[in-house]
Amino acid sequence: MALSLDLTVPASARPRVPAAVLAAPLAPAGEKPSLIGLDRDGLAEALASIGVPEKQRRMRASQLWHWLYVRGVASFDAMNNVSRDMKTALADAFTLEAPEIVSEQISVDGTRKWLFRFPARGAGRPVEIETVYIPEEGRGTLCVSSQVGCTLTCSFCHTGTQRLVRNLEPSEIVGQVIAARQRLGDFPDAATPAGAIVPSEGRLVSNVVMMGMGEPLYNFDNVRQALAVASDGDGLSLSKRRITLSTSGVVPMIPKTGAEMGVMLAISLHAVRDDLRDVLVPINKKYPLDELLAACRAYPGLSNARRITFEYVMLKGINDSLADARELVRLLKGIPAKINLIPFNPWPGSPYECSDWDQIERFADLVNDAGYASPIRTPRGRDIFAACGQLKSETERMKKSERLAADAVAQA
Ligand code: SF4
Repeated sequence: MALSLDLTVPASARPRVPAAVLAAPLAPAGEKPSLIGLDRDGLAEALASIGVPEKQRRMRASQLWHWLYVRGVASFDAMNNVSRDMKTALADAFTLEAPEIVSEQISVDGTRKWLFRFPARGAGRPVEIETVYIPEEGRGTLCVSSQVGCTLTCSFCHTGTQRLVRNLEPSEIVGQVIAARQRLGDFPDAATPAGAIVPSEGRLVSNVVMMGMGEPLYNFDNVRQALAVASDGDGLSLSKRRITLSTSGVVPMIPKTGAEMGVMLAISLHAVRDDLRDVLVPINKKYPLDELLAACRAYPGLSNARRITFEYVMLKGINDSLADARELVRLLKGIPAKINLIPFNPWPGSPYECSDWDQIERFADLVNDAGYASPIRTPRGRDIFAACGQLKSETERMKKSERLAADAVAQA
């Protein structure tokens, strides 16, 4: 019953781009603002700020858009239809820096996790977030973060143990997509790293899920702008059907998400009773199940072709009984839905265990028999802490290890 979608596919031989073009985003970000993440209006404003006459701005913004989001270049020098003077003026005022890559880890199953660092904003410090790439047979999914840390404290989630530092800007959200595609060689004429495990066909980053660190609906405006850039058909060109926003259940923002972003929706459900969901996903105390499911039923554009995904982490002895499965089926009645069963991915200090595999399969069979497609999401990237609910910046992870070590010494 378990679905395994792992596929090891050799990287295709592609023409290479100059190393300097790929290497540039790895450099630490400087003081100048990056153009990455700006929409067309933002690019036109940037051009205005360096004195480009109004009648040229639209055309120049289109040129920049093309180089940023179609070609994925990281250097103004690579823009060969832009005049030398214009390139100099742009380079004096702006950068094309995607986030600094602090580390890149590659799992035995081909999942990649990047620790990205963004420069300080105002009086703040540089911040770090994680982004994960999951290659499968016919697609490659990028799991993108929306916040540094999280205000919510879902008890099964490692990110929930890291306090919120700040929201990510649109440029920082789009920057994760650009940096990942650059590292994978997923732009025209770019080279895929030797030995990379990538999908056998199609684009290397074909899907984006806003399921990384943070609650995207607590950073609504920035996420909306970033996803508008990512889904623009003349740029990064990710179909809205291939972008999924996952929320823990910020009910008032769900209708707005459908109306203003039009992306696919996923709900971090994980429990079928309010008393249990209050513990696993504490935002449930504010927006209980009946309100959450009513918002789902009314989600704009909902249909059998545009189903809501309900994520359900399998916790041994907590939420994995067959009675829970029956209640899940009852609750979702009438909602075009998919149910993703997620074997719990443990992290240091986590209070839960993963359900036994037999129990996960019994649970899945019951839900499948009721007519829901309910794949068991094969754990990916567990060896590099890249699986669902495991993301946390490496710095935070090290701090926690140091705290645990200090506690152990104190108790000795
Ligand atoms: S599951 Fe999502 S909303 Fe809940 S703590 Fe983790 S990152 Fe935050």
